[in-house]
Amino acid sequence: MGVNQSDVNAAKSILWPDEKVEVTVRQRRVGPGGSVTTPTSVLATDKRLIILNRANLGIRQDYEVIPYKQVASVRLEHGIISSSVFIRVQGYDVDRGLLKNGKQEGEIDGLNNKDAQALSDYINKKLEDSDSMPEGEEMDNGVGGFTYCTKCGTKNPASAKFCSKCGSPLR
Ligand SMILES: [Zn+2]
Repeated sequence: MGVNQSDVNAAKSILWPDEKVEVTVRQRRVGPGGSVTTPTSVLATDKRLIILNRANLGIRQDYEVIPYKQVASVRLEHGIISSSVFIRVQGYDVDRGLLKNGKQEGEIDGLNNKDAQALSDYINKKLEDSDSMPEGEEMDNGVGGFTYCTKCGTKNPASAKFCSKCGSPLR
């Protein structure tokens, strides 16, 4: 498992003070699976996933935050040259989000095999951890519906137009 310090620095303004980055992976810049224009970095912290579009930093939609609570499943696909991590995320817009692949899952492609393995292992571990956590505030989840802020990960009512914590527009 590796953490790339330059990715951590790029995400500095997004990270919470007590948040710890555990794994970082980066899409290849060129070549099969990798994209030249959007070498996306993914940071798995102890609290959430941060998808960083480094090509667009400073421009709209330059990052997304996905709390582990929102992740339904993760799977890994090893190719000959590169690997992809597919994550199924509740309420994620697979047509417009940074992980868009036009299908039902978000896709982080163009990863080297080791990075893809490390990322999917880590997310799976977090999913297991949260499964074993006692049910508390989660109880209200099935009722009115919620939407998670893509900027800070805060849970908001589905009807909200702006995040109650950071004020970002909600999809
Ligand atoms: Zn927010």
